[in-house]
Amino acid sequence: MFETLLGQEYVKRTLTDALATGRVGHAYLFCGPAGIGRKSFAAEFGRAVMCTAPGADGEACGQCLSCRLMAAGNNPDYKLITGEEGKTGIGVETVRALEEDIVTAQAAGRRKIYVIDRSEKLTVQAQNALLKTIEEPPEYAMLILICANPSLLIDTVRSRVTRLDFARNTREEVLRAYSEKAGKNGAELTPEEKDLVAAYADGIIGRALQFTDFELFGQLREELFGAVDQLNAGGSRFFQSFVDALTAENAAKNKEFVFFELTSYVRDAAMLARFGETAPMQNNKYRDKLAGLAGCLGRHGCARMLDRIADAWLCAGQNVNYRSVAVNLAADFIDTAKGKQI
Ligand SMILES: [Zn+2]
Repeated sequence: MFETLLGQEYVKRTLTDALATGRVGHAYLFCGPAGIGRKSFAAEFGRAVMCTAPGADGEACGQCLSCRLMAAGNNPDYKLITGEEGKTGIGVETVRALEEDIVTAQAAGRRKIYVIDRSEKLTVQAQNALLKTIEEPPEYAMLILICANPSLLIDTVRSRVTRLDFARNTREEVLRAYSEKAGKNGAELTPEEKDLVAAYADGIIGRALQFTDFELFGQLREELFGAVDQLNAGGSRFFQSFVDALTAENAAKNKEFVFFELTSYVRDAAMLARFGETAPMQNNKYRDKLAGLAGCLGRHGCARMLDRIADAWLCAGQNVNYRSVAVNLAADFIDTAKGKQI
């Protein structure tokens, strides 16, 4: 059970016990950052819960109609709800649709499962509308709420679900998952690449798997760092090259990586400004250029820019005009560098 999923021993034990003892709840809350495996666990758990011929330990048989439909990715009793495209919240109309659907019994499996992705996006009104269903769903139904930020759920929802927290994976687990699922066309990663994948993943396998193209990511990094280094040469050249580096097609498609690298670069400059030659750094090979950036921004300027980058990163992940995020950040860099010289 859950063999293909790495780590999360607590979650595995809790769910396996529930299956083995037949004490499966009717509403769960899977908490953890995006990419940690919440949906994969929901699918694996759901497969076992729906299976019509489970083993003595509750494990899915893999043969019944429900299991086969699940393997084909089109089990009509397993529903993933993500909210409407283009809308920031999941509104009450989505919950109403769920309520209308849930009264129809399952088609192939023992149970019918509703997985609500990004459940923190449910509006308060929608959460209130969902309460009754969470409390007393039809006995064949089960709900799994996927959530990164449970504080956005109302207390009455949180108190009616079985909550499971997903822990970050270890470096070894991340690298193992990476070599199994993504890899570098079968080639072994260099120690430097391993460090890069592990640092970027930050314990989240789904993030590591975004690293599909080392050449592209290396190129994005060179362009980004090169643009930041222009800050030393004066405002106008920096401004254009920085905005270009952030908004170029490949960079805009990989914002997470770009902001991660930008943070890492400026953090190194901050370390240099603070500790000088003995500073521990992530981007050692750029040490000379980083010394220039550290001198240009100063210790406080580096700290200020790390805050600004974090804000911009947040905005870039939301429905904010991405170009204006890049433009504002470029202006912040210039202002901060000027402030240093005064
Ligand atoms: Zn089965």
